[in-house]
Amino acid sequence: MRKQRLTLLYPGDFYSMAWGRYLTLKPHMVYMHAYLAPHFDVAVIDLENEFSRPVNGSSLDRFKERALERLLAVETDILAISCWSSLNYLSSVFFATAYKARRPDALVVVGGYHPTFVPEDFTFVGSPFDRVVGGEIKNIFPALGMDAPGPDNTYEVEPEYESYPYYDGQGTIGLFLGAGCPFNCRYCMEYKRKWSSLPVETAVSRIVDACKTLPLKYVTVFDACFGLNRTWKRDFLKALSRQNLDIYLWLETRVDLVDDTDIQLLSDLKVKVDLGIDSFSETMLGIMGKSRRPKAYLDDFLRVSKGFSRAGVFHDSYLIFDHPGESADTWEEFKAFFHTRVTPELRNGYLRVKYQRFSYYPGNHIYTHYRDYQDRFGFRALHPQWWKESGDHYTLSRTIVPSLDTAGNAFHVPLKQASAMVRGFNADAKDEALWQKLHSFAI
Ligand code: SF4
Repeated sequence: MRKQRLTLLYPGDFYSMAWGRYLTLKPHMVYMHAYLAPHFDVAVIDLENEFSRPVNGSSLDRFKERALERLLAVETDILAISCWSSLNYLSSVFFATAYKARRPDALVVVGGYHPTFVPEDFTFVGSPFDRVVGGEIKNIFPALGMDAPGPDNTYEVEPEYESYPYYDGQGTIGLFLGAGCPFNCRYCMEYKRKWSSLPVETAVSRIVDACKTLPLKYVTVFDACFGLNRTWKRDFLKALSRQNLDIYLWLETRVDLVDDTDIQLLSDLKVKVDLGIDSFSETMLGIMGKSRRPKAYLDDFLRVSKGFSRAGVFHDSYLIFDHPGESADTWEEFKAFFHTRVTPELRNGYLRVKYQRFSYYPGNHIYTHYRDYQDRFGFRALHPQWWKESGDHYTLSRTIVPSLDTAGNAFHVPLKQASAMVRGFNADAKDEALWQKLHSFAI
């Protein structure tokens, strides 16, 4: 029996301009391709790879025109659209509508984070979507009336890079070794609360095997919270170290999960670690749900950063300004910690401080408890459905009121001042040239 033809489409972003990384090998697409290929006759079209990302109105018009021509030339039984994030919403609707109008017999399916959190955005009257798939990749099978073949978790799928149509010898790949995070940071969209991972031997062999067949220089691990389980983490780091691979590794984790032994084990590898610190204000850390013990959390940050710098481990700390609840008082707390602890104790090491303004996204605690934040702080998102608007999504999603003072005035962190502080600190960080390459995934 012939397999059904399935076209996996990454529709690109219409209004994200320079927001977010531009990855040719998008890990979720590589994994979906590998998972679906044994069961369907799969074609992949990544419109961002083929036609780049629109940066203004005229390039958006050109993008739509050329992308439509490419897509409408495809005959398929199932058009599976990856609406990975809210940034992909308008493009998903646009291409689904155009394809359905031209080929009404094709089944149009959409999945990803946005359909998981806001499925009703795809079921409006006259919607071109026949199926809306939430959660893991495997859920596409029951949506198509088929039994899911397993595995249950996306990270258990064995990624296939060489057979992926956009693989052309890249030295950087992204993979998943596990999933989930039991913490509950209020702005975070991670919905799998239970942490799980590949067995250590499998996790190591995924990397070793990739190194045997691909010209790898850099493996980026996209787990939400790397190494939550201490035994797993140590066994993994030791086993990987024994392989003596000449590659860099990129990981994201929390400072309260890293102890001195971990620092030693990580320093045995070539690694860059990203740490979501989020704020230097204890009050904000409490509001963000980052830690129930904000002071201890910041002490952990100082301890871990000093350890990493002594060991020569690149590490970036990520901050969020203007999160709901940010106020003049929390900004003062931030500055005090920055000037009295961070600068004198951590400067001239391997730490860089990175920041971004809070962006309002569907799916997290703030979205589902909007009214609570409004009542508590005066928080407001001025474009509460920005993903449906035509305009710069970076700006629209960040057009918010974090809090109101007693006189009813909105507070915003003075970004020029924050930027000058951060730039001054980072100017003294070590080994800028290599850090730039690792940070941009361009090694
Ligand atoms: S931000 Fe990180 S630590 Fe917090 S819930 Fe999300 S994945 Fe977990």
